[in-house]
Amino acid sequence: MPQVDVLTIGAGGGAYPGAFMLAAAGYKVVMVDEKGVMSGNCLYEGCIPSKAVREMALALLRKKKFQDYGVLGDVKVDYKKVVAHKDWVQELRYKQHDEELREAGENVSLVKGVAEIIDARTIRVKTDNGDVIYNTKNLIIASGSDSALPPVEGKELCITSSDIFRLHPKIQDVPDTLAVVGAGYIGLETAVMFNIFGSKVEVIEMMPTILPGAVDPVLADMLYKSLDPQIKIHLNSPLKRIEKTEKGVRVHYATPEGVEKTIDADYVLCATGRRPVVPKGIENIPGIKVTKKGIEADESMMTGVQGVYATGDVNGQKMLFHAAVRMSMTAARNIVAGNRPVDKVDVNAIPSVIYTIPEIATVGITRTDAQKMGIPVQEVSFPLEKDAWAQIYGELEGEIRIFLDKRNQRVIGGWVIGIDAGMVINMIGLAVARGLTARDLADFADAHPSIFESVQKAARNAVF
Ligand code: ADP
Repeated sequence: MPQVDVLTIGAGGGAYPGAFMLAAAGYKVVMVDEKGVMSGNCLYEGCIPSKAVREMALALLRKKKFQDYGVLGDVKVDYKKVVAHKDWVQELRYKQHDEELREAGENVSLVKGVAEIIDARTIRVKTDNGDVIYNTKNLIIASGSDSALPPVEGKELCITSSDIFRLHPKIQDVPDTLAVVGAGYIGLETAVMFNIFGSKVEVIEMMPTILPGAVDPVLADMLYKSLDPQIKIHLNSPLKRIEKTEKGVRVHYATPEGVEKTIDADYVLCATGRRPVVPKGIENIPGIKVTKKGIEADESMMTGVQGVYATGDVNGQKMLFHAAVRMSMTAARNIVAGNRPVDKVDVNAIPSVIYTIPEIATVGITRTDAQKMGIPVQEVSFPLEKDAWAQIYGELEGEIRIFLDKRNQRVIGGWVIGIDAGMVINMIGLAVARGLTARDLADFADAHPSIFESVQKAARNAVF
């Protein structure tokens, strides 16, 4: 029976950065992943390939704008080439990960297989060449999440984001019509891209707002008003069933008044949430708590069972790749410290970005949260219509908003809507994570012209 110091179930963001740290510290580590590659769903079918496609859509939109200005001639998109670009990015990154794995040395290896838990120290791995049973001193469960389909008749007719974004995906052409179930971040991001590529897109959402529960309702409303009105969004409209038609699918939903309506489309994308993937045999570790949100872990990623950690999407704390990476590093440090909680993750200080167009991003506590928590808030903002960078791109819509604790002007949160929101939010995030004040941001001389100047300008509204 092979003996290791640490075994990770999964080799995504919740596993491999920590695995490399542990290997460098002299630990013998095995990562087990059924895909046989590192980086999990993020690179396989999620963040990276979807942004590779989204950036092409944004490029097209920008070209069209400059065409309207009379600067550029005709622009057309060849979607097969968009997919080829996405595939190229994925393959490039897989190659890079292979090199990183080689460079990490003999202490760490990646095994292609499905892991099953026999007990906290014993893991069966089903590989193409039969079962291997590992004995491990520590276990990091980083088995991630997958798409949850809606529980309705005809759900097997759904496509998921995987069909669009995985390597060599099923969808190779722009559909004439696309129905999207769910106005969460995956549904909206995809709706926005295909609307730009020329699909007629309709979205149904059972809740009264877009991005329900994902961002401050004030921000969700700002985005709702900024989305291209060509994308038809039906709120308070639950999915009833899906049926096959000659050309594609017919999606039945109920209007807020309870009337049944239909959308005929080439495809229906079901973006109805992601659920944690809990490895088989989890019940063989008594003391581990599994809820609908996933495997319970504290801020140190400990499950309450000595030497057993749950990192990344599977613990349900923040289902984002960069959160998983941070969590895997925490687990690694705490293992090296002899299973003591020397490092903790501050989930509140991890930014979230939604790559719609315009894009939005948030971090920390907003006014709505602060009011609930009884924290006095001071709020400052800067409109992007006055930002030089936004003006250069002709993308004037949006704002940067920073929330301060009124008692000491510490930055407790912020949001950005508009150009490069996903970049700018990191600066506000660093301020939240490190307890910086409005003065710290106001006194930093951000490069000109860059969108970051608007963070400084927002902060300057709070200080002399
Ligand atoms: P995270 O970002 O939290 O690491 P991901 O979903 O990106 O999550 O990655 C988790 C990886 O774990 C995926 O590649 C998935 O296929 C793999 N995986 C899930 N369950 C098992 C299992 N029982 N055995 C092996 N690999 C698994």
